[in-house]
Amino acid sequence: MDQLETYKQQLVAACRVLVERGYLMATGGNVSLRVAERNGFAITPSNYDYAGMTPGDVCVLDLDLNPLSGQRAPSIESSLHAVVYQARPDVNAVVHTHQVYASALALIDAPIPALFDEQARFLGRSVEIIPYAPSGTGFLKRNIARRIKNHHNAYILQNHGALCFGPDMERAINNVEILEKCSIAYLLALCAERQVTKIPLAVREIAFNKLRQDQKKIERRAEENR
Ligand code: 13P
Ligand code: ZN
Repeated sequence: MDQLETYKQQLVAACRVLVERGYLMATGGNVSLRVAERNGFAITPSNYDYAGMTPGDVCVLDLDLNPLSGQRAPSIESSLHAVVYQARPDVNAVVHTHQVYASALALIDAPIPALFDEQARFLGRSVEIIPYAPSGTGFLKRNIARRIKNHHNAYILQNHGALCFGPDMERAINNVEILEKCSIAYLLALCAERQVTKIPLAVREIAFNKLRQDQKKIERRAEENR
């Protein structure tokens, strides 16, 4: 079997799960997986309905965006995915969605503070809003590159959607789900017009520290395999 075929199959399977769970709709969003052996990544094609996607539709690019495999045009956000893989050696899967509740917070410029233990453990200290720039542009890529060095695994893109990372695709999808749960709960809490409580700072730091330890382990492994 083609060395890249398993990555393509894994990517299509991940898209199917994300469509079934309502995080990917029609052609919105894009999903990628690091292909370490080729110093690149497999990514969904541009403007292509996820429901009908097959492994043959997946594109593989190197980190300079040169095509390695695939017939279709890659996602317009390919450079954004490449910048994540360059800046974050702990990340092996990237999921960009237009998921509804995180997108609502993207409209009111409401970053999510540390509300839940599992949020701090898997997403980071908070979910920040990355300032608006048009889809598919170098401006958006640069805004993202500037902010992802804080080691968080979820961000909200102003007037656009969400961006989640993981050490593998399963974890990245879990992070998409945690983000949407936090977004729904936070929006409802804001609507109640009562004070929104946060988890204690010390607990937030302990949880985030565990995430950092996991990330450092993956970074070390990636360094050894280089
Ligand atoms: P692509 O279909 O090119 O991946 O674009 C979708 C999108 O979400 C742009 O931000
Ligand atoms: Zn988008």
